[in-house]
Amino acid sequence: MSESWILASTQAFAVLYGLAIGSFLANAIVRIPEGRSLWVRSSCPRCATPVEWRDNVPVLSWLLLRGRCRHCSTPISPLYPLVEALTAVFAWLVCRHLFVSVHDIDAATAGAWVLQFGLLCLLIVASAVDVRHRIIPDETSVYAVPFAIAGHAVLEWLQYDGWLAVGWRGATLGAAVWGGSFAFIAGAARLVYGEEALGWGDVKLAGMLGAFLGVVGGSVSLMLGSIAGAVVGLVVWAILWRRPYLPFGPPLALGAAAYVLYGDVISVQLGWTLP
Ligand SMILES: [Zn+2]
Repeated sequence: MSESWILASTQAFAVLYGLAIGSFLANAIVRIPEGRSLWVRSSCPRCATPVEWRDNVPVLSWLLLRGRCRHCSTPISPLYPLVEALTAVFAWLVCRHLFVSVHDIDAATAGAWVLQFGLLCLLIVASAVDVRHRIIPDETSVYAVPFAIAGHAVLEWLQYDGWLAVGWRGATLGAAVWGGSFAFIAGAARLVYGEEALGWGDVKLAGMLGAFLGVVGGSVSLMLGSIAGAVVGLVVWAILWRRPYLPFGPPLALGAAAYVLYGDVISVQLGWTLP
């Protein structure tokens, strides 16, 4: 097999894997806020018919069924195919970013792919739940911190030295610095303004980003996220002419995703040397 064929098959595998994981994430977005189990088979919310395997194929089934239950025609939310497609795109982008040549294909880089794609998956669920319910679930923020630190420890053990190799110490420090800073800002804002300007969900999300990206990566992604949030806020304010309520989770997630996928390019442009 030629080099380009090996790389193309790796990317194809990443896309298929991303579609399957996306299906799971879409279920998580709907079920976590309702406190329902993620491990029970899907069924139609109206007629309760269990979803057959042929109606459970990511993206494709939704399109073939035109977004309706096969039995009772109840509309199925477009959230499912959208999340599945977005997850697959992220899986592909991380794969393309990390596996530039066949020499990159080894256990350490595969581990880095799992960790970086895993972070993007958490961000998809956190953002979607934040938009729908104005909360960021602990499952996608603070509970992920030990997994991020353990993941970086494994990568260190595998002697990974590519993009985002911050090590378990860097991950621990990142979680402490960014979780701590956001907790301080949240506490200070509460004292000064007497209202919650920054939710505890955002604090836990910032700590989680620090754990995955380290201190420097956390700072760049939180900066990018804050700019994105401010721009969206200003646009909405200009259109509605009143101060909007906007969840902070999605712009933070956007900043982190941009950093994971393009942070090395951005840092080269800025003339920075990043770990
Ligand atoms: Zn039905």
